[in-house]
Amino acid sequence: MVTRKSRREIEQMRRAGRLVAEVLALVESELKPGVSTAHLDRVAEAHIRKGGGTPSFKGYPGINPRRPFPASLCISIDDEIVNGIPGERAIREGQVISVDAGAIVGGWHGDAAQTFFVGEPPPAVRDLIETTRAAMMAGIAAALPGNHIDDISAAVEDVAKSRGYGVIRQFVGHGIGTQMHEEPQVPNYRTGRRGRKLEPGLCLAIEPMFTLGSYEAHVLDDDWTVATVDGSLAAHFEHSIALTDNGPEILTTV
Ligand code: MG
Repeated sequence: MVTRKSRREIEQMRRAGRLVAEVLALVESELKPGVSTAHLDRVAEAHIRKGGGTPSFKGYPGINPRRPFPASLCISIDDEIVNGIPGERAIREGQVISVDAGAIVGGWHGDAAQTFFVGEPPPAVRDLIETTRAAMMAGIAAALPGNHIDDISAAVEDVAKSRGYGVIRQFVGHGIGTQMHEEPQVPNYRTGRRGRKLEPGLCLAIEPMFTLGSYEAHVLDDDWTVATVDGSLAAHFEHSIALTDNGPEILTTV
C-alpha cells in the first residue's frame, strides 16, 4: 500500500535523513587505505545511536532466513553493486567503494547511498561515478506532482543510456516511511507502464545502480553481496525524497 505522509511526518523523516547524511559524510572522512570496512561500520553505528537513531539495516531479513544483515552499513567494493557486508578487509587505493546507510529515528526511516573512489579515479571510473549521481539527480528532478513513476525511471535510464552503462534491474528504488521498503517500486529503467501518479506526500528512495558493463548481477555466497556477473565496476547513489507542492525535497541531507 502506498501511504502519503503529512507535512509533520515529513519533518520527522527529515531527522532520520539528516542522520544518514551525517553518517555518509563521516564515512567519507574516514575512508583511507588500510582502514577496514568493519571500522567504517562501527563509526557509522556509533553515530546513528548517538543521534538517537537505530541502524535500519542491522538484522534486516534477507534471502537466507538464518542470515539477517549483520551490520549498519552496506559497503560494496569494485564489482560489488549493493548489500556488501562490512568485515576485516582493508580499503585499498584505487577501489570503488559504495556505501549505503539507513537509520530509523522516532519510527521513521532515512536511506541514502554514495559511491566514493579511494585516490584519484581514472577518467572512465570518474565518469561512471559522476554519471550515476547525475542520474539520481535527474530522477529526483522528475519526481513532480502530476508525473508518474515511469517519468522518474525514464529520466534515470536516459542518463545511463547516454553513456552506454548497464542499468541494474534486479534492485530498484522504493517508497519509504515507517518501513524502509514501501510501495511503490521505483525502477531505474522504463517498464512500459506509467506506474503510480506522483502526489505530494509521497516519499521515495531513488537509487540508480550503474555498471561499466552488463546489467547482470548475482548474489555471492554470503547471501547478501550483489556483484556484477561480468566483473565490471559498479556505482550506486541514493537519496530519500519527499514530494511536496513545491516539488521534490531531498530528506537525506544535512
Ligand atoms: Mg534503498
